[in-house]
Amino acid sequence: MIKNVVSIRLPVAEKAVIRKNRILPAGLSEKEAESRQLPRICVVTGTHGDELEGQYVCFRLNRILAENPQFVSGIVDIYPAVNPLGIDSITRGIPRFDLDMNRIFPGDAKGTTEEVIAAKIISDMKGAACAVDIHASNIFLREIPQVRVNINTAEKLVPLAKELNCDFIWVHAAATVLESTLAWSLNRIGVPCLVIEAGVGMRITQEYGERITVGLLRLMKRLGIWSGPVQEVAEPIVSTDGRVKFINADYPGVFIPKVRHWMNLHEGDSLGLITDSIDGTVLQDVKSPCNGLVFTLREYPVVNPGSLVARVLAVSESGKDKKGAAK
Ligand SMILES: [Zn+2]
Repeated sequence: MIKNVVSIRLPVAEKAVIRKNRILPAGLSEKEAESRQLPRICVVTGTHGDELEGQYVCFRLNRILAENPQFVSGIVDIYPAVNPLGIDSITRGIPRFDLDMNRIFPGDAKGTTEEVIAAKIISDMKGAACAVDIHASNIFLREIPQVRVNINTAEKLVPLAKELNCDFIWVHAAATVLESTLAWSLNRIGVPCLVIEAGVGMRITQEYGERITVGLLRLMKRLGIWSGPVQEVAEPIVSTDGRVKFINADYPGVFIPKVRHWMNLHEGDSLGLITDSIDGTVLQDVKSPCNGLVFTLREYPVVNPGSLVARVLAVSESGKDKKGAAK
């Protein structure tokens, strides 16, 4: 059933409405499901209006649940657009306020319009067994499917993150700015919240969406929300900040990549060229600083000094040896 989470009047006869689809076990009313205290998952996306990868995941998950109601054993809440004005206008922030929605949580029920929206979203998700917040990258970078987990919550979240069928779990250090995100606010009130980053801004990568959908069903099975079949998935690499290397452009120009995502690299291998199209000059041969795997790669060709070109996950000595042996 489609429910309104927030409905806010806009200045001229329109409304900003945040909606969710609530899916219940077959034959149970909402009241019955709640009184039995069935586990609930919140699948959230569209906080950033220019990130559309999650739209495909919501579509696929909704279809699978609608076609297999006999396997739904808990409550599934799907929120495809928590920033609906942003999605409709392909704007990262909330358009009217030019504000990053993922910097206003947990909000304030007595605050400004946007703080009220944030507070209502948090109170709607309170009590869930788990939340998954799906993001994409911006238009500049493409990310392999990865789960990002704060180090303070890693012990609890990494086992859940492993179900999500992503290649990589990035356990990052706590940063003050992250304290205003949806994930931080939910984790603080006891709702384990996993953040997925996958793909590129303003586009849908179907292959990634299918993988995340498989992962969500696995997570739901673990939580007792899905009793249907699930696929086996590979174990992701779990890494902390220390193994993530950032590679930036030194010159302004046009970046032509030479590598693909999740490709094994040796230290010194070329990631791509920064070129000058007026005379064919190669301004920079961008090299990998370590043996590792490319998990972020520049999608948007124009670069300036300092532009992020790639992120490489440094592999351990044993990984390097394995690669050497395979040659
Ligand atoms: Zn985002």
